[in-house]
Amino acid sequence: MKQAILKKLEQYFDEMVEIRRYLHQYPELSFKEEKTPRYIADFYQNLGIDVQTGVGGNGVIARIKGNKPGKTIALRADFDALPIHEETNLPFRSKIPGAMHACGHDGHTATLLIVGKVLHQLKEELSGEYVLIHQHAEELAPGGAIAMIQDGCLEGVDAIFGTHLWAEIPYGTIRYKTGPFMAAADRFEVTVKGHGGHGGMPHKTKDAVAVGSQLVMNLQQIVSRRVNPTEPAVVSVGSFVAENAFNVIADTAKLAGTVRTFSEDVRNQIESELETIVQGTCAAAGCDYRFGYHRGYPAVVNHREETEFLKEIAKEVPEVSSVEESELIMGGEDFAYYLQHVKGTYFFTGARPEREPAYSHHHPKFDIHEEAMLVAARTLALAAIEYQNFEAANR
Ligand code: MN
Repeated sequence: MKQAILKKLEQYFDEMVEIRRYLHQYPELSFKEEKTPRYIADFYQNLGIDVQTGVGGNGVIARIKGNKPGKTIALRADFDALPIHEETNLPFRSKIPGAMHACGHDGHTATLLIVGKVLHQLKEELSGEYVLIHQHAEELAPGGAIAMIQDGCLEGVDAIFGTHLWAEIPYGTIRYKTGPFMAAADRFEVTVKGHGGHGGMPHKTKDAVAVGSQLVMNLQQIVSRRVNPTEPAVVSVGSFVAENAFNVIADTAKLAGTVRTFSEDVRNQIESELETIVQGTCAAAGCDYRFGYHRGYPAVVNHREETEFLKEIAKEVPEVSSVEESELIMGGEDFAYYLQHVKGTYFFTGARPEREPAYSHHHPKFDIHEEAMLVAARTLALAAIEYQNFEAANR
């Protein structure tokens, strides 16, 4: 069975490339996807595969039932693009101004569609059930995963697997990580309300710029002095706005930043320390403030048994020359939500393009190594069917 799957996936590699290049030309932004979900649904329907559209918004799921009873395995691919104007010279570059598949979600979609096609062709010999989750809106909080889960996409699912094609990792490499893998990504905003006035008479004002500057510095104390040093965390102020004339003391200053963490405890701690520092700094200067903390995706926390399992599976894929443990990734991913409900693991498939230099994800010149789609497809498909025989050791 394994050999049949590997072979069939290779047979359809050209089609995978064709699909990816088509989707790449017609990217759609998060929560605004219309043609992409229709394309996905049509693909499955034409093959006679059971498909459900409008799942949690623009999501699509396809279900393939094997001939024998068994576990239900979900595989997930996201399909939204980014508000970036493509600057590559690829013949299949984006035809939509201001929208680009600059994170490889076109490749994820093509990969999963062909996995679905192959599983469907082999279903008479398969056990269990396969749920192919095509998720909308990964790039924009609150993301599509939450709504798709609320709409039942994980009902009856025993385990889930997903991968990201990663352009900064060499082709032929799979990177896994047990436990925390990708960061929780939150946003905060502070408005410092002072009392503006003449630049030459500061004693008659409450200077929002001076207080905002103190804040930027004081917030550095959270990671360096308050959080346990064995816990990775980031607090970054990315925006500080107080527009004014050069000789006028500002009334208001607005700061905004991001917080990245891997544990819920540290996340809660930072949220509360942030407000304490804002309150204290503003109080000392006699300013008022407004503070807002907005939670983005939680951390991606991979399950140990499923990650160990995946690591062994990846070694069976012919093109995979290296299976490595990943470092922690400070970026976020809403795959996190699936892992809060069912067992599973999220991993990276090396997709550094042959053309140099390689550009990072979300760059207007971003591209992937297309052969990596076959690696991803083979790893996901083998994981799905082999998980039928997998018995976790210590449950
Ligand atoms: Mn992505």
